Amino acid sequence: MANAPVWVDEKRCKACSLCVAACPSGALAMRIEPKSTLGAMVKVIAADFCVGCGECELACPDFAISVADRKEFNFAKLNDAMRQAAEAIKNNNFYELGGAK
Ligand code: SF4
Ligand code: SF4
Repeated sequence: MANAPVWVDEKRCKACSLCVAACPSGALAMRIEPKSTLGAMVKVIAADFCVGCGECELACPDFAISVADRKEFNFAKLNDAMRQAAEAIKNNNFYELGGAK
């Protein structure tokens, strides 16, 4: 999966939001997903914001999210816009903006 910086195994995701809480760059957010058990699912909303820190993968108790190898993917560098995006998502209860709960 070296063509993507970060990806989710939706069969494993329990929608706990821990990965979104851990992400410094606003690359991840929760979305409403009526078909999932908890009514939500994590989503990679800005793959180009992913800095490859691996915090989401470390935070996930269900091994549902994976990050590309630094040798295989050219990750972004963290900047203020990304920090602000992450803050806005956290202030929005971890949901993507506009799809909020
Ligand atoms: S690797 Fe880091 S920047 Fe990328 S989605 Fe995971 S927590 Fe966010
Ligand atoms: S931490 Fe894991 S189980 Fe929780 S929302 Fe993220 S991917 Fe899903």
